[in-house]
Amino acid sequence: MQWLRWRLALAAAGVVLACEVLDQAFAGCYRSRLRNAGVVGGAVSLRGVAPWLREPRSLDEARGVKRPKEASGGYHRANHAAKFKQKKVEPTALDRIADTLASSRTRLFAKAPLQHSRKWPKADPAYAEVAVIGRSNVGKSSLLNKISQFGTVARVSSMPGQTKEAAWYRNKKVKVDFIDMPGYGHSARARVFGPEALSFVRNRTSLRGLYVLIDARHGFKWSDHEWLSELGSAGPMKQVVLTKCDLVPDKKLIEVASLVRSDLESYKRVERKVILCSSAWLTGFRDLRKDICERCKLLKGTTAAPKPGARRDDLPLRATKGQDLGIL
Ligand code: GDP
Repeated sequence: MQWLRWRLALAAAGVVLACEVLDQAFAGCYRSRLRNAGVVGGAVSLRGVAPWLREPRSLDEARGVKRPKEASGGYHRANHAAKFKQKKVEPTALDRIADTLASSRTRLFAKAPLQHSRKWPKADPAYAEVAVIGRSNVGKSSLLNKISQFGTVARVSSMPGQTKEAAWYRNKKVKVDFIDMPGYGHSARARVFGPEALSFVRNRTSLRGLYVLIDARHGFKWSDHEWLSELGSAGPMKQVVLTKCDLVPDKKLIEVASLVRSDLESYKRVERKVILCSSAWLTGFRDLRKDICERCKLLKGTTAAPKPGARRDDLPLRATKGQDLGIL
């Protein structure tokens, strides 16, 4: 379009010049409309060619940023266009198994009080076991409900201390058991479940991971410190998850997360990274599912045998003399 505008502007300038010449030759007979039309046409064309002749139409134009054509027309259209241009990334085996966990059902299969170890269901070696613990009302049940998105698995309550027994949930598809533990801390002015939860974690040797939930609005509270330091290096590797991140502004969330990470330095057998989740906005669950799958070593079964005829990266494309090509 730009070149057309330049041409129009030049044509208009030519008309004006021709009028001037004719004016000189015939003493003003050709003055008037033709020349005026030329002047107006030139000005209009130059407005397109020379943007400084008018006010900028958009912020991008004011900053001198040029966007591709498909990106014009607002934020949503630009995003849509960018999505289609993106190169598709092949999901890894871990991504796939995490997606299976997200779309499969997790069902309750046992409930038992923490203090009676004889009532706990026996650990099945075919299933990896992970437990979720945290202060009362930190969002344990809500988090479990959202790990597998189908159906409600755990009872959610706004009253602290409502989960009184440990509950076992089984996902048969990815072969993992989740244990929803009663919260520690204080409820209705009474100290709840701290010592029982400690002895459970110490004695349940089948646990592959323990997810310690911390409310993102408060960070580590005294009861969290107390519980973790009493546990010491007993039990499996612990992973801290910040919950209710939707209730905290981004700036504060960064502060809280870095404070929590520095608090973790004083504990043994605790992962140094922190997972940020919100059960309301469903953020962070992809990372959490991947972490669960990795911790439970669920990948073993999925990567075992390559499909017949599939290309193997560890083998050369062509056989050279005497080379072992393996079994495909
Ligand atoms: P539990 O006692 O630790 O099992 O906590 P619950 O899962 O029962 O949740 C306690 C309360 O917190 C409920 O009212 C939930 O709706 C609320 N809650 C849990 N997770 C979130 C979250 O990520 N965001 C928000 N806004 N509320 C949450």
